Amino acid sequence: MVKKRITKKDRERMERILEILNREYGTHMRTYLNHENAWQLLIATILSAQCTDARVNMVTKDLFQKYKSIEDFANADLAELEQDIHSTGFYRNKAKNIIACAKRLLLEYHGEVPKEIEELTTLAGVGRKTANVIRGNIYNEPSIVVDTHVKRISKRLGFTKEEDPVKIEFDLMNLLPKEHWILYNIQIIAHGRSICTARNPKCSACFLKDDCLYYKGFEKKKK
Ligand code: SF4
Repeated sequence: MVKKRITKKDRERMERILEILNREYGTHMRTYLNHENAWQLLIATILSAQCTDARVNMVTKDLFQKYKSIEDFANADLAELEQDIHSTGFYRNKAKNIIACAKRLLLEYHGEVPKEIEELTTLAGVGRKTANVIRGNIYNEPSIVVDTHVKRISKRLGFTKEEDPVKIEFDLMNLLPKEHWILYNIQIIAHGRSICTARNPKCSACFLKDDCLYYKGFEKKKK
């Protein structure tokens, strides 16, 4: 993918935004999906497609009690697993993918979750987003997770003009310093849940408004 040119002004604006995000949301690394190990996070992330983290956490609380190992998932009865994860939506595909993914982990990776993005994305139900969740949270490898909040807010801030999550990921990798890649997702999710909501973002109360292109455009139109 061709690297876009970043101007000095863009870089300074990005640096100010990251500084404010650090100040407001802290620099503590955390995951919003409850898990105790790599394969649990992998399954929770597969379940989180088109579903809230809160709902996934409710489901995995019982799910990981019932299926205590990756072998349990590999040997699961499809119809029963579909019922177990029903409330996360798209449960037929998710159940099929979880079983296929667990089988491959056992067959090809001795039950371990691989680290490389090229390997992770060959697992059933695992795209770049899920792969980056694993790389960042389990292996501490710099990676940018483009979820719905990151997509929406990165566009509003003017960090990308793209729609496609992979192109957004590359734009962000090009712009943001590597040491902020994992943190960016954590902070932007917090911002998206509290202030920069999908509908009616609370721009007047937002500490990023002086550097936000969406807000500046909105203000211009008012004049
Ligand atoms: S100013 Fe508005 S659009 Fe920009 S980041 Fe803040 S809440 Fe979101």
